Amino acid sequence: MKFLITGGAGFLGSHLIEHLDGEITLVDDLSTAKYELPKKVKFIRQKIENFHTDEKFDYVIHLAARPSPEDYTQHPVETILSNSLGTYNALEIARKSDAVFLYTSSSEIYGNAEIIPTPEDYWGKVNPIGVRSCYDESKRFSEALIMAYYREYGLDTRIQRPFNVYGPRLREDGSYGRVISRFIYQALKGEDLTIFGDGNQTRAFLYVDDWIEATLKILFMNGLKGEVINIGSDKETRIIDLANLIIQLTNSKSKIKLLPPRQDDPPRRAADISKAKKLLNWEPKTSLEEGLKKTIDWFKSVMK
Ligand code: UDP
Repeated sequence: MKFLITGGAGFLGSHLIEHLDGEITLVDDLSTAKYELPKKVKFIRQKIENFHTDEKFDYVIHLAARPSPEDYTQHPVETILSNSLGTYNALEIARKSDAVFLYTSSSEIYGNAEIIPTPEDYWGKVNPIGVRSCYDESKRFSEALIMAYYREYGLDTRIQRPFNVYGPRLREDGSYGRVISRFIYQALKGEDLTIFGDGNQTRAFLYVDDWIEATLKILFMNGLKGEVINIGSDKETRIIDLANLIIQLTNSKSKIKLLPPRQDDPPRRAADISKAKKLLNWEPKTSLEEGLKKTIDWFKSVMK
C-alpha cells in the first residue's frame, strides 16, 4: 500500500503514521510541525500546493492546514492557499492515481453553530469576511471541491470533521495558542491561565487515540465513498472548567486571568456523533480527565 500524507509531520499526522503499514510519503512545509519523523517515511519538505509528482498512490490523506486560530489569523493567505490550491493539488494526485482520498476538514466549518451537538447535515453559520474566515471558509471550499470530484469523477472521497483533538505532541511551547496545550504549559510554569472572555464558551475535546481509531476506520472501511463524518465528542466542557481541571491535575499554584474575548469565537461547540456510531461503530473511549493526565505527563517529559 502506498500512502501520500500532506501535513503528515504535524500533530495528527505524526500519530497516524505510526499506525499505517506500507510505503509512506509525507509532504509538509514544517510551518507548524515540530517532531522528528520516523525513518520509515519518505519526507518531502514542500507546500502541498507546490508539490508535483508522477507517482501513484493507493491513499491520499490531506491533513495540511494551520488549525490554530492564533496562528492562522496571523497567516491568513497561506491558510487559504493550503485549503484551496493545496486541496486541488492533492485531489488531482488522487484522481490520477484512482486513490482513496481522505480529507481532515474541521468542526470550524459549522462556525457559530445554532444546533449543539451539531450534526453533519447542519449547514453552518459562518462570517465570510471575519478573522476566522481564512480557515472556516477555505475548509468549506475544500469540502465543496472534494464533493465535486466525487460527483464528477467518481473519486472515492471521504471527509471527516474533527472536533478539538488533543494529546501528546501538541506544540508544548505555549505560544501556539490551542487551549489545552497552552493551559498545561501555563499551569506547569506556574503562570496565570489566560481565558479569553468569561470562560463560559464551550468545546468538546477528543483524545488523539480516539481520533486515530476513527480515522483508520474511515480510511479502510468499505461503503464510505462520498461520506462526511463528525469525529469528536458530544461532551461539552466550559473553558473555565477546563482551566480549573488542568490546575487541579497539575497541582499548580497558577491563577486564572480573564482577557478580552477573541473575535468570532464560537460560543459553544460539540459533535453529534450519531453518524460515526452508526457507520463506524465508533465512539470516544477516553474521558477528558484520563486524556489530560496522559497529555500532562507528556508535557512534563518534554518541557524545559
Ligand atoms: N482559549 C482561551 N485561552 C487560550 C486559548 C484558547 O480561553 O489561551 C479559548 C478560546 O477562546 C476558545 C477555546 O479556548 O473558546 C478553544 O480555542 P482553541 O484555540 O484551542 O481552538 P478553537 O476551538 O477556537 O478552534
